[in-house]
Amino acid sequence: MGKIPENILNEIQDKCDIVEIISGYISLKPAGRNFKACCPFHHEKTPSFVVSPDKQIYHCFGCNSGGNVFNFIKEYEKMDFIDAVKMLAEKTGVKLPEYRKSDDQDASIVSTIYSVNDVAANYYSNILEKISPSSEPRKYILKRGLDAAIIKKFRLGFADSSWKGLLDYLASRGIKQDTIFQAGLVTKGKENSYYDLFRNRIVFPIFDVRDRVIGFGARVMDETLPKYINSPETAVYKKGQHLYGLNIAKAGIKERNFAIITEGYLDVMTCHQYGANNAIASLGTALTTDQVRLLKRYTHNVVMLYDSDQAGEMASIRGLDLLLEEGMNVKIAALEKGHDPDSFLRKFGKEKFDVAIKRSKSLFTYKLDILNARFDSKEPESKAEIIKEMLSTIHRVKNAIVKAEYIKLLSQELSVKEDAVWEELKKIKTHSDRRTESGDRRNICQAVDMSPAEKILARLMLEDINIVKIVRDELKPSDFRNHDIRNIIEMLFSIDSQDGAIDIRRLMNSMSESVPQNVISRIVNEDMDIKDKEKNVCDCIMTIKKENRSMLLKDIQNRLSVAQKSGYEEEEKKLLEEFNELIKRRF
Ligand SMILES: [Zn+2]
Repeated sequence: MGKIPENILNEIQDKCDIVEIISGYISLKPAGRNFKACCPFHHEKTPSFVVSPDKQIYHCFGCNSGGNVFNFIKEYEKMDFIDAVKMLAEKTGVKLPEYRKSDDQDASIVSTIYSVNDVAANYYSNILEKISPSSEPRKYILKRGLDAAIIKKFRLGFADSSWKGLLDYLASRGIKQDTIFQAGLVTKGKENSYYDLFRNRIVFPIFDVRDRVIGFGARVMDETLPKYINSPETAVYKKGQHLYGLNIAKAGIKERNFAIITEGYLDVMTCHQYGANNAIASLGTALTTDQVRLLKRYTHNVVMLYDSDQAGEMASIRGLDLLLEEGMNVKIAALEKGHDPDSFLRKFGKEKFDVAIKRSKSLFTYKLDILNARFDSKEPESKAEIIKEMLSTIHRVKNAIVKAEYIKLLSQELSVKEDAVWEELKKIKTHSDRRTESGDRRNICQAVDMSPAEKILARLMLEDINIVKIVRDELKPSDFRNHDIRNIIEMLFSIDSQDGAIDIRRLMNSMSESVPQNVISRIVNEDMDIKDKEKNVCDCIMTIKKENRSMLLKDIQNRLSVAQKSGYEEEEKKLLEEFNELIKRRF
């Protein structure tokens, strides 16, 4: 038993309603026979996310994501398929058979990497625990003021200076070198020999929200460059998808209903040590949309904690507009000159830290203060410049009341008529809406390169097994040019020969390896102008035949011209015959 058997998948699907499951995450509004919502996978203002209770599938026409209930959980929770199935199995009370990893290549490497990472994290923390208190890493940690409890909680470790320490340790536990490489723990040296990636560095394991070690960050203890080395991307670690410390902070974030976002590993650890248990870090310079959406599951409120160096940087503040686009409330707390959260807490303690957090300014105020300091706000040109910069932030605010309030404040602050500010806002809006829209359409092209005839025919066949029977007499799967559709047709033909019925959500499971679910969900959900079914079927079959014939003719012509140019008379003669044959045969 490798993959979860289809009958089990079907049983789970039978016991849960996709509308109910998705409603648990986002609010759905009835729209005819379907339900609609603003898509949770891309930013949009008008809903293009459709859930079909009849077919038990979903599809977004904005970003082209779609599939059955397993795919939704997989995408929304950022889980692998197996975990999504497990979650729903638990919910529906369906018992899963023992799952053997080794049978399923993909799932197996993923879970292997998790466990290899876990062993590696233990290896590094054991080194740290055992080395003498007078050693460099111990002194460094002492200087940073981290206590034993927090070191344990974040599983801090140390990689000594040996080249193969971790490699040998993992190998002695029977883990293959290839696997260790796939986990990103070693790099390839000369003649393909492996050696440890992290050496002579403090090691911070990076976790996902479910406490699994997905990668590592490693810091030098002096001024050597690079200061940090991070794990490369692996099957379990994708850059920009995780937030450092969220696994530990999520309870605190929910409870306080806001998250403190800091710069680095040490800031997060110090915050937690001092009781700011809602601190996390972005694991990189700028927050990504994926990270913001991950955080949104726990809170809509964010305080960015800046050290004094970054505080005045317009670039980093512009980056925060993304949070507004995702409907988050953003505040900024700046610490005293020369301090980062880590040094601030150690010097002034938690009370002063809380005051700094409480005094945080809204992104609006913060940005305006910086701009006011930079420009002479009495000059008309400067005013225009400030307004332009401010509006680039304000237009991203989702709440209309907050937006109007900001416009009012801005016009008062700069002594400009409110109407004029609104006028300027309109100009920005149209421009940037276009930008986000095109940026969001990630895999739409998959569906675009299908010929309409192939798409319509596939749709009609997916809806009605009787049409499969008709098409079968006229076309072969190889007559369909689109690779995905060809696979779908093959599957439909085989369902027909087994006298089966078509159940789309089930079809998605059995085809998961050959056709992406969103391709199927798009075909069955797309608005198509289909009135006379039978006529449509005939027309499509005819069109596909014609298209194939003209492709074939074109191909022969090309080969013919090559043959003529190169003087292959034999070949030329053969091709000419083929060509004439095809012309004679009408279809
Ligand atoms: Zn979408």
